[in-house]
Amino acid sequence: MATSHPVPRTAAPGPHASGQTTPAWHALTAEQALQAQAASTEGLTTEEARRRQQQHGANRIEAVAPPSLWHRVVAQFHNLLIYVLLAAAVTTAWIGHGIDAAVIMAVVLLNVGIGVLQEGKAEKALQAIRHLLAPHAMVLRDGRTTEIDAADLVPGDVVQLASGDSVPADVRLLKVNNLRVDESALTGESMPVDKALAEVAADAVLGDRLCMAYAGTLATQGQASALVVATGAATEMGRIGQLLTTVEQTTTPLVRQMAQLSRWITLAVMGAAAALFVFGTAVRGLPMAEMFMTAVGLAVAAIPEGLPAIMSITLAIGVQRMASRQAVVRRLPAVETLGSVTVICSDKTGTLTRNEMTVQQVVLAGQIIDVEGAGYAPEGALQRDGHHLQPAELFREAPALLALAEAAALCNDASLHCESPGGDWQLAGDPTEGALLTLAMKAGIDPVELTRERPRGSVIPFESEHRYMATVHADAEGSVALLKGAPERVLAMCDTQLCADGTVERMDTAAWEQAIDTQARAGRRVLALARRSGVNAASFGPDDVARGLTLIGLVGIIDPPRDEAVRAVAQCRAAGIRVKMITGDHGVTASAIAGQLGMGEGLRAVTGPEIGAATDAVLQQLVLSVDVFARASPEHKLRLVRALQAQGEVVAMTGDGVNDAPALKQADVGVAMGRKGTEAAKQAGAMVLADDNFASIAHAVEEGRTVYDNLRKTVTFLLPINGGESMSLLAAVLFGLALPILPAQILWVNMVSSVALAMVLAFEPTEPDVMRRPPRSSTEPMLSPFVIWRVGLVSLLFLFGIFGAYRWALASGAEVEAARTVAVNALVAMEVFYLFSVRYLKSPSFTWVGVQGTPRVLAAVAGVVVLQALFTYAPFMQALFDTRGLSLQQLLVCAGIGVAVLVALELEKAVLRRAH
Ligand code: ATP
Repeated sequence: MATSHPVPRTAAPGPHASGQTTPAWHALTAEQALQAQAASTEGLTTEEARRRQQQHGANRIEAVAPPSLWHRVVAQFHNLLIYVLLAAAVTTAWIGHGIDAAVIMAVVLLNVGIGVLQEGKAEKALQAIRHLLAPHAMVLRDGRTTEIDAADLVPGDVVQLASGDSVPADVRLLKVNNLRVDESALTGESMPVDKALAEVAADAVLGDRLCMAYAGTLATQGQASALVVATGAATEMGRIGQLLTTVEQTTTPLVRQMAQLSRWITLAVMGAAAALFVFGTAVRGLPMAEMFMTAVGLAVAAIPEGLPAIMSITLAIGVQRMASRQAVVRRLPAVETLGSVTVICSDKTGTLTRNEMTVQQVVLAGQIIDVEGAGYAPEGALQRDGHHLQPAELFREAPALLALAEAAALCNDASLHCESPGGDWQLAGDPTEGALLTLAMKAGIDPVELTRERPRGSVIPFESEHRYMATVHADAEGSVALLKGAPERVLAMCDTQLCADGTVERMDTAAWEQAIDTQARAGRRVLALARRSGVNAASFGPDDVARGLTLIGLVGIIDPPRDEAVRAVAQCRAAGIRVKMITGDHGVTASAIAGQLGMGEGLRAVTGPEIGAATDAVLQQLVLSVDVFARASPEHKLRLVRALQAQGEVVAMTGDGVNDAPALKQADVGVAMGRKGTEAAKQAGAMVLADDNFASIAHAVEEGRTVYDNLRKTVTFLLPINGGESMSLLAAVLFGLALPILPAQILWVNMVSSVALAMVLAFEPTEPDVMRRPPRSSTEPMLSPFVIWRVGLVSLLFLFGIFGAYRWALASGAEVEAARTVAVNALVAMEVFYLFSVRYLKSPSFTWVGVQGTPRVLAAVAGVVVLQALFTYAPFMQALFDTRGLSLQQLLVCAGIGVAVLVALELEKAVLRRAH
């Protein structure tokens, strides 16, 4: 790395070194601040930055320390089920059932242990994702602007801020251009503040320090260059100890709904248990102690203890899987919503297309120049009518082309580097501008050299709203404004055109419109370049370029569709999801690209002005029939989302700009771009795409559907086990029979085999047809009629299985304890086979793939078999649970009952499939 430029090597006067007071940076002039930081406007060298980082640490506000293990354990005890169990244990011990009390206590501890582990796992998954969302900063290092992790900033760094950026550290502003900052995160003031350079009084409050910008606030407009004065914990935000939340809401409506459900079930079951106790003692005249144990048994049998925890794990695993497929979820409910998305509205540039832009044609007055080559490497000839134009000859042969190339190089914020001769050319900045730099280089211009010769006097930066950029440079006659932008916008500003020979004449608007249309039909992005002499750099503003410009020419830029986006569009359509393109680009270009993406040929593109003119009612009709929206601005996006939602659609919407935030918030799933997206968009989005790629949205939908499937499988798996157990106990008491399974045994089943088997469902892979079904209705309850039916049916099967096994064992001469052991083993066998069934809720499980299971399924089953063997044969378990060793015949009967359940359910699936 070059370290040649003059950066002072002395340490900064340590505003953060312990014991030293922090200077009032807002009361210093920019120069004083630079001096105090031993920095310069050229930025630091990488070496110096590294040294300072050792001194100051990373620019990170450490998360509030995670709760200690002890706290987490205690928190787990605060749970209705645990209270019930503890009360049961105490009473059980009190009435002299010491072993039962010990078993219940063991279950309490096991439950707490599993809870702590699961919570830890879910939290870890989210932590990993927080790391992915780390913000970036544009910093001057070694004299060059580079993008780095904001965590690597050090005091003395010079950073660039642009609209949409979150301010990465506390900074003293060095240069501002209309900078406005939303400081509500820090000051609570909701109106953005206009920033300025002048220092303020030392006692000014935060909100009045106009020459400063603070970490965690948001630039909503303009640009600035600024000196980092405090990082990490030393920033104002760090001092108030506020954590910048990156992943919000740790639960989802569904999990809350299910947690609520289990609370209700718990209460209802306790009521039922009390009723049972009264019935047993008063009506049946059974002993109090025995009836109490039965009531406790009913309570533990019917409460789905593991359900909420397993659901949280399933969600966390889904979030992790999405992250590994480049979709980072910031708000957990999005995981669920993704599964029911019906429309995806996507940007075009960079999301559906590759964002690797190359100028293919240049249109000048009366001439077309073909440009060879691909990518950013400046290799490729310029041709006119098949004749190669030599760069050195352009001045004489094609002065208009030279003028266009110069404007392309000067009115440009990007830069291209090639580390080694023949190596790849790397772009820093906007790809559209990169393409223009490459064009200029193909025309023999060295953009760096040219910018040095003719430095920029003033600038109107590009914003999606006004769709042009203009700069002012010195030329022979004083100052010239150079402008580039969306062609219809630029055409409206021009009244003359530059002829091929370099003279100026009246503009032929019709010919240019024709040329724009031809370029756009070929799917090219069109930019027009224009100039105006005799402007005043000091007072330069939009009024100076509103009219009277001379059009130099057009460039046609290709930006090919991403191959994976073509596949993803097809996949979405098969999944019943409509894809809509909403782009700032030209309508004709947009529909040509839509054709290439397989969205349909010759699609009608509705433009921003048409959206603006439509009433809400008209728009609601329009959104149903139109898939391409062009020249659309962020407000249009917001209206489109609302119109789609009014039609009952569940909308995912992408966005990157600061003004996209409202549309991202309004959408059911706001999808922000991770790379080119602004911090504002990322904070508004429910999900961030790490690779800006449309295909990742389709993957996220697929994962969202899988998560929902797995949640449903978990519920469908666990509830009938509780159902079967509680029905068995109720039936026994009602009919005056001995209990087929003891309460302690039920706890064993619920806490050990059920949890082990249900955990497998959280990791279930995606079913093959997941993206061939229509989206799930967002109003469909988790306990759908199908799930209720299935839970009811399986509960009954379990009831018959448990009683059948118990009665058979008794009838074949076994004592009661052995018959109960048979019943428990039959129950566990039914669970195991039911797991194979539930992995495919509706499609057959008797397939080669289905029977094989997954390594996880097999491991869980093997684990359960080992535990059951211990439960049945180990003497200490026999003592604890009152079990007996079983004969081979008895074991085979248990397995047979399990198989019978699987067969019955396969038959049910076949009947249901036929019925549909
Ligand atoms: P999308 O919304 O799909 O990302 P987009 O990138 O074309 O599409 P914008 O960035 O809003 O949307 O650009 C809108 C138009 O502004 C472009 O079609 C182009 O004509 C023009 N334009 C884009 N970038 C620049 C730039 N750097 N300077 C001048 N004009 C530009």
